[in-house]
Amino acid sequence: MRTQVGIVGAGPAGLMLSHLLHQRGVDSVVVDLRGRQEIEETIKAGILEQGTVDLLRQTGLGDRMNRDGFVHHGINLAFSGGIHRINLYELTGGRSVMVYAQHEVLIDLIAKRLADGGDLRFGVSDTQVEGLETEQSTIRFTHEGEQQTLECDFVIGADGSRTYSRFLIPEGTIRKDFFRQYPFAWFGILAEAPPSSDELIYAHSERGFVLISTRSPSVQRMYFQCDPATNIDDWPDDRIWEEFDARLSPSGTGVTPGPIFRKDVLQFRSFVCEPMQYGRLFLAGDAAHTVPPTGAKGMNLAIADVHVLDRALGAYYSSKDTGLLDAYTQTALRRIWRGQWFSFWMTSMLHRFSDATDFDLRRQLAELELVTSSPTAAKNLAENYVGLPLT
Ligand SMILES: Cc1cc2nc3c(=O)[nH]c(=O)nc-3n(C[C@H](O)[C@H](O)[C@H](O)COP(=O)(O)OP(=O)(O)OC[C@H]3O[C@@H](n4cnc5c(N)ncnc54)[C@H](O)[C@@H]3O)c2cc1C
Repeated sequence: MRTQVGIVGAGPAGLMLSHLLHQRGVDSVVVDLRGRQEIEETIKAGILEQGTVDLLRQTGLGDRMNRDGFVHHGINLAFSGGIHRINLYELTGGRSVMVYAQHEVLIDLIAKRLADGGDLRFGVSDTQVEGLETEQSTIRFTHEGEQQTLECDFVIGADGSRTYSRFLIPEGTIRKDFFRQYPFAWFGILAEAPPSSDELIYAHSERGFVLISTRSPSVQRMYFQCDPATNIDDWPDDRIWEEFDARLSPSGTGVTPGPIFRKDVLQFRSFVCEPMQYGRLFLAGDAAHTVPPTGAKGMNLAIADVHVLDRALGAYYSSKDTGLLDAYTQTALRRIWRGQWFSFWMTSMLHRFSDATDFDLRRQLAELELVTSSPTAAKNLAENYVGLPLT
């Protein structure tokens, strides 16, 4: 088999890149370890920045999102016994975020790629990439019991945080990893219940952080800060709802309970690898960087990476110009480090650290007071939350 761009990973980064390349007439093949159904049913992110929404709409992927997604013009910060709204729309001159689940975006992307004749190989195994320093790279994999060799001009490593492709960049001599682990995790639930709030609530409390989020009018996604070693079995539904109440009631709010059909513990870390290119390999999305979910940046950064890559590959195929490809790492990293800073900042402002002193707590509250009372500070939060325009 031969294609122009071989893509490892059918997550938001890999599928979106394949879609964008198709629109400019560049061929690609996408391979993924997981089956289509598993990809379409894995619930992860749910908040799309304005730039992501615009790109989906501009490239023919807006229909279901426009119908089923929810535009949120604001978010709420709960602390010190009150709730304070950040008006994203006003503070950013008319920008907002869309609540539309990542797996719904993937359903739309897969359907569109297949309708456009795209070549997506689900359920592959033994992915092996070779020839990155030559002009003819190969991706070998097993699909439906047969060994396949895909020859391509470029390989895109879009294989998520459990990446294989990142490790193709030699560590130390070329690749440097930047890493931070946090001393807490999130206990996440999915519940069949009506929304507890019209807009997301990020709550600071003495018992730890809470996020009240939503996926649809009947499915709610909520999290509370927990120890990374927390055992899900120790948390029957009643105890979970009591914990939400204990953390939210001091701010005069609460949750509407319902049957919980999923519980998980999400580990927190910040990670960036540099460079994001090695020979004919380009990394995109979680394969190159991960953020704690507090800033809702992960999927959006993945889309932003491939937006840059699409243009760079477009320039290469239209005029053999490698300038944008050569600049890929530098261009993408500017936004990635900004996203890292924002995610770290939101995390540090809202969570309880186990070694925090009373001084640290007072400082956090002063910061929350600042971002909810100073228009300048609120604008800073709002602009970063809705995301930088894709340029
Ligand atoms: C609970 C949770 C909540 C989140 N909330 C948000 C949010 O609100 N907003 C936001 O922007 N982000 C959020 N994120 C982060 C977001 O989901 C990720 O950043 C996003 O999935 C990254 O997309 P990706 O395409 O880079 O990687 P992935 O989505 O991880 O896709 C990678 C794909 O590569 C495949 N793969 C892996 N190894 C191989 C291999 N060797 N060969 C072939 N295929 C392979 C995998 O099967 C997978 O399908 C959240 C994440 C979690 C877990």
